[in-house]
Amino acid sequence: MNVRAPEGILQSPDICRRCAETGPTCCWLNPGGVDALFPISDPEWRRIREAFPDAGGFQQVPNSADFLCRLARLFPREKDLLPEIFHPRKHHYALAVKEEGGCRFLGPSGCVIPLECRPYYCRIFPFWVTDNDVCVVDFTSCLAWREGRSTFRMTEFFGLTEAQIRDLHGRLRIAWGFPPKAGMEFAKKGL
Ligand code: SF4
Repeated sequence: MNVRAPEGILQSPDICRRCAETGPTCCWLNPGGVDALFPISDPEWRRIREAFPDAGGFQQVPNSADFLCRLARLFPREKDLLPEIFHPRKHHYALAVKEEGGCRFLGPSGCVIPLECRPYYCRIFPFWVTDNDVCVVDFTSCLAWREGRSTFRMTEFFGLTEAQIRDLHGRLRIAWGFPPKAGMEFAKKGL
């Protein structure tokens, strides 16, 4: 079942619409790659459920060694914390994937979740923050990466400033269970 976008949603950047219309986009999973799905925290899950109460759209995935290894590459300084946050014998929520490999929330012109309700990882991708530096993930399926090739051009495509990317990354860290970094005043105000 495809889920439909609520009326009047905040639209994706045009680059994401063009990417979705030509495929494959970052919202597809390689067969058997369930360990590569990023986790969905409780606040993120609740926000999406408020927009799509009946849509399903999630799956429980074991905190496998491969999953933890992938997270350790994203958070190398916090890798010792990972088994505490994602206990190896427990599970985490992830987005459900359709049979052909696309995310359950991927429509023909991109994501159907209102932008402000999307998982933080979806909102920050294809950027990441390492030691407070904003960088770009090399990902050939991303049209912004293929057309932009520089952090500056890509931030223009997404209408994001580096400060906004750092802010999203900080919120993602907290939502996923990592300790806030110094200066994250919003940490006490909720996500
Ligand atoms: S939630 Fe939206 S942006 Fe995130 S993977 Fe699914 S379709 Fe893509």
